[in-house]
Amino acid sequence: MGYQNYIAGQWADGSGILTNINPSDTGDVVGEYARGSADDVDAAVAAAKAALPGWRQIGIQKRADILDTIGRTLLERRQELGELLAREEGKTLPEAVGEVARAGQIFKFFGGEALRLSGQLVESVRPGLEVTVTREPLGVIGLITPWNFPVAIPAWKIAPALAYANTVVFKPAELVPGSAQALAEIIAAAGLPTGVFNLVVGPGSVVGEAMVNHPDVDGISFTGSVATGAMIAQAAAKRLARVQLEMGGKNPLVILDDADLEVAVECAINGAFFSTGQRCTASSRLVVTAGIHDQFVEAILKRMAGLTVDHALKEGTDIGPVVDAAQLEQNRSYIDIGQAEGATLAAGGELLERDTPGFYFSPALFVEATNDMRISREEIFGPVASLIKAADYDEALSIANDTEFGLSAGIVTTSLRHATHFRNNAEAGMVMVNLPTAGVDYHVPFGGTKGSSLGTREQGSYAKEFYTTVKTGYLLS
Ligand code: NAD
Repeated sequence: MGYQNYIAGQWADGSGILTNINPSDTGDVVGEYARGSADDVDAAVAAAKAALPGWRQIGIQKRADILDTIGRTLLERRQELGELLAREEGKTLPEAVGEVARAGQIFKFFGGEALRLSGQLVESVRPGLEVTVTREPLGVIGLITPWNFPVAIPAWKIAPALAYANTVVFKPAELVPGSAQALAEIIAAAGLPTGVFNLVVGPGSVVGEAMVNHPDVDGISFTGSVATGAMIAQAAAKRLARVQLEMGGKNPLVILDDADLEVAVECAINGAFFSTGQRCTASSRLVVTAGIHDQFVEAILKRMAGLTVDHALKEGTDIGPVVDAAQLEQNRSYIDIGQAEGATLAAGGELLERDTPGFYFSPALFVEATNDMRISREEIFGPVASLIKAADYDEALSIANDTEFGLSAGIVTTSLRHATHFRNNAEAGMVMVNLPTAGVDYHVPFGGTKGSSLGTREQGSYAKEFYTTVKTGYLLS
């Protein structure tokens, strides 16, 4: 089935076709999608710019209602959209349905936020003057997203952009146009004025670059790899456009001697391997103290042996396929790298055959890894974890922080003292105690420190820092 881009309130053909394949069954074509061009970006940006004044004037009640409608529709259709998501991206059906539901909650939350935006009335240092501090929309926002959360990440960018009266040009990742298309259809049907929301599908090097370099795009919110993020930040800086980047992670999960072993194993399995390890918040480094090390290795290997890797839509599947052949090859190459570096592959790392041809890969655990190995420093973005032994809490903390990234960090412990110290000293934007490093709430800030993020936080009411500008008014009456 063929799909189109959505520009200036019209569904429009692109200048070619992008074929979307099911990674659980490569014979299954999910659909053919319009491949956009730089001209399509021009048209979408022009429509978004023209729509700005009307969208601002429409008022907060209407904007809140529209966002709420989008949220309710996503929640109502979570099963059907979850099936599409699982089919094109490869995460398991329960994970995919949960992601769609979360996207629905995000839209509903930002419907409320549209009503709550407020300013300040401040006394002037000059008697008789009134000072106001108010927020205004940033303008036309270009949104560029990755493939691993094809509904939730677009939702947490589109919803605040619209809530605060901006207009949007959205470019999804090439691997997941189906979810983007479904989301765009729901948004288009919710009663937005023409041009407020536009979808342009296509390659990053064409559609993405055209958006980043467009003089009428006032801000770019990007989630993806560090390499792409760095290019985008440089291009945006040249024309002084605002950017927000959410990028990679090499997130540590510290397991202390006093941890509940079962909790430790569940946090590690979930964080390292669920969603096929394709989460920026995945626990790709397991830092385990000496007293529990051997017991933990035995217990996690036992648990790994019981994991089912299979078709994303099959009941009972714990881990779906890798997203595509290139990512599968990347995972496989890190298995060779880890072994060459001297780590011991304790389990997994193999290509698997299932009933349907797909990119199946068994979750891999390296033991006797050190923190200076490439497998412990570089983001693999697959179900591959390095287990690093630490003498004690202090050494575990220093290993955890010895990374260029700083997205999420976790600790499993029954010691309040260590839990509190870790929360205060882990160099990460998000810290988890007795929880996997992945899995966050939608109404609070999301983002990292160091090389993981640039700019202000996403989600929750903090999102307005990116999507609004501040105006200070002085009035002598
Ligand atoms: P990617 O950087 O390859 O692509 C992300 C998006 O950027 C895609 O839409 C792509 O088309 C676009 N793009 C590529 N080149 C571009 C260019 N030159 N100009 C403009 N846009 C361009 O990342 P990916 O492979 O889709 O996603 C995986 C990465 O995303 C991982 O590194 C992961 O850690 C990261 N990620 C981060 C978060 C977070 O919130 N920190 C969340 C999810 C994923």
